[in-house]
Amino acid sequence: MNDETGSEIWVFGDYRNYFQNRVTLQLLAKARDLSRKISARVCAVVFGCGIDEYVAEYAAHGADKIYVVDHPGLERYQIDAYVALMERLCRERSPEIVLVGGTGFGREFAPRVAKRLKTGLTSDCIELYIDDEGILVQTAPAFGGNLMAVIVTRDRRPQMATVRPGMFQELPHDYEARAQIVRIDPPADPPPERLRVIRSDRRPQTDRKLEDARIVICGGRGMGSKAGFRKLFELAQLMGAEVGATRPVVYSGWANHDALVGQAGKQIKPMVLFSFGVSGAIQHTAALTGAGFVIAVNKNPDAVMMKMADVAVVADAKQVCSAMIKELRKRIRP
Ligand SMILES: Cc1cc2nc3c(=O)[nH]c(=O)nc-3n(C[C@H](O)[C@H](O)[C@H](O)COP(=O)(O)OP(=O)(O)OC[C@H]3O[C@@H](n4cnc5c(N)ncnc54)[C@H](O)[C@@H]3O)c2cc1C
Repeated sequence: MNDETGSEIWVFGDYRNYFQNRVTLQLLAKARDLSRKISARVCAVVFGCGIDEYVAEYAAHGADKIYVVDHPGLERYQIDAYVALMERLCRERSPEIVLVGGTGFGREFAPRVAKRLKTGLTSDCIELYIDDEGILVQTAPAFGGNLMAVIVTRDRRPQMATVRPGMFQELPHDYEARAQIVRIDPPADPPPERLRVIRSDRRPQTDRKLEDARIVICGGRGMGSKAGFRKLFELAQLMGAEVGATRPVVYSGWANHDALVGQAGKQIKPMVLFSFGVSGAIQHTAALTGAGFVIAVNKNPDAVMMKMADVAVVADAKQVCSAMIKELRKRIRP
């Protein structure tokens, strides 16, 4: 129990794949829900360097309090340093529950923290609730998903879980929300690095299908050339999006037939659709009826695609694409 503030539920801020992966925001929403039953405060914990925008994002998505360790030595994720720091914070502040996204990062980080704290961890949870005794009940698939294991950590603290992305709905962004920010000094003597990261590159996403993608970037003849169109792949990689194309693009060999969106191609239903240099012929737009929020970029404000968009940007598509790539490169951490 934390003497200063009462019971706390912590959510570890994993922002490294922020645009693709909203699991931290989903966990903050779940933590809010859990906190009602045990009158706990919802806290985000975030490590890194120059991370104020994530701090603001967590405040807007349900955190009452945010522990921030902002230091150049934490710019890149280093497993030993991150684990030691989390262990220290948990020992000093005794959170009741610690939730971590079940990402590649979380699967590496959370078990090490749990081991050091000699507490239980349920990996890959798909449901969480608090029972009548105030204990966190964690449900996770077991034996290859053939049965659901219901797990509790009765005696040890914190109760720890990693949770699969997409299990819970994030709260809507609240611009008025304010959180208490607690800035923590970095460790004076960080553990020696057993592993040194020399460089890191983003892995291209090749295994997701256009039809199932949450974000799609569709490009048309307005991208001007094959080289211009290829910029959309770069943008898509940064956003975790899939690329779709109109028929002239496919016929010109700028994209494969797999990318064709429309009557002769695929039906898509992304939450967000970016449409670059697409006129909006019916054979194309017929496949967009399931799209959520649509942002179109076209130099012609009267193009049909611009009329059906939620946001219509009158501009050169290649320039907008390049500007977005530049901006995202600045904001996304390796
Ligand atoms: C039987 C049949 C089936 C078809 N099936 C499909 C299908 O499945 N999918 C499909 O997509 N099409 C299909 N078509 C083709 C369809 O009718 C359209 O011709 C096609 O969708 C137009 O593609 P587009 O928007 O890329 O090109 P265009 O119609 O040439 O439009 C290009 C757009 O880019 C804009 N632009 C130009 N330069 C710039 C710039 N620098 N910056 C910003 N904007 C710029 C222009 O203002 C214009 O709006 C089919 C047609 C037929 C007859």
